[in-house]
Amino acid sequence: MDDLDQARWSAVERRDQAAIGVFFYAVTTTRIYCLPTCPSRRPRRENIAYFPTAADAVAAGYRACRRCRPDATTVTDPAVASVVAVCRCIENPDDDPDLAELADRVGWSQRHLRRVFAETIGVTIAAYRRAQRSERVRNALRRGVPVTEAVFAAGYGSMRAFYDHGATQLGSNPDAFRRGSPGTDIAFTSISVPLGEVVVAATARGVCAVRIGDDADTLIEEIRAEFPEARVGRDDDGLFEVATLIGQLTEGRPSKRADQIPLDLRGTAFQVTVWEALRNLEPGTVASYADIANRIGRPGAYRAVANACGANPAAVLVPCHRVVRSDGSPGGYRWGPDRKRTILAAEAADPSEDLSARSRSR
Ligand SMILES: [Zn+2]
Repeated sequence: MDDLDQARWSAVERRDQAAIGVFFYAVTTTRIYCLPTCPSRRPRRENIAYFPTAADAVAAGYRACRRCRPDATTVTDPAVASVVAVCRCIENPDDDPDLAELADRVGWSQRHLRRVFAETIGVTIAAYRRAQRSERVRNALRRGVPVTEAVFAAGYGSMRAFYDHGATQLGSNPDAFRRGSPGTDIAFTSISVPLGEVVVAATARGVCAVRIGDDADTLIEEIRAEFPEARVGRDDDGLFEVATLIGQLTEGRPSKRADQIPLDLRGTAFQVTVWEALRNLEPGTVASYADIANRIGRPGAYRAVANACGANPAAVLVPCHRVVRSDGSPGGYRWGPDRKRTILAAEAADPSEDLSARSRSR
């Protein structure tokens, strides 16, 4: 829970008149939204969602409460109206003015704006900005937007800025928001390749697991155990093409079509960032754990990078095999170090036709 969330909950608990028009709360169980002062029984905190405007609540599918009429409420106190206007500016990721600019817009001194804002909203302007950004990331993740894309679209200048200011507010696992509800359908198939057995599993969004091993049934059991809430079933026809492309990857035969296979991976924000960085490693090249740590703006986090590589759920689609020790030795591989060596050797030896087509397209 961030500070803004706490300030809003406290206003709801007190039915704070000063919070009218500043934000709205909605009850996820009844699908109704209210003023902070609504005389109805207060909902449980875990069932509340907050919205900066009534329109946002409506857009999210909530109906206006008949008792407090949040849809028919206007802010009449000019100071509150000014603060609310400042909130709207901060909430707009394409605007994002600094304090001086905000003060200009409402015609106040910066100092006055800071004070009145904090009194009205319950948190500082900086805290409100941070909370809005992480809220934008949360909403984007719920829509299934990839983590890095969501982070930049929300107005963070870098993944680093997101981890410094945003990730803690999301909790340690932003991808938990993407897990959806129990009853997700997961289809899988298995194929035999020279390296062994490959099992590919996918949700409606994309591939969620690629496993390499000696025994397909064991790999399938692993996947069932990892997605206990999902309905997991075989679909050889539906996944035939994807599995074939993935099989080619295990033989060191990359292709543009394999690059375009959509992914639906579960992981912490950090893990997903590492996996996306790995996807930028060209076939035939390798990087060290420290290189990847630098590329994601977390120099020194090479141990965490190594752990994220070890947790890679999608073998070869996320080419964790292209990450090696700083001394050039292959290092570990979740699917067996021999398999890693084999894939790397094949990629280094055979820039196939598909690969040159891929290089030209970039
Ligand atoms: Zn109400």
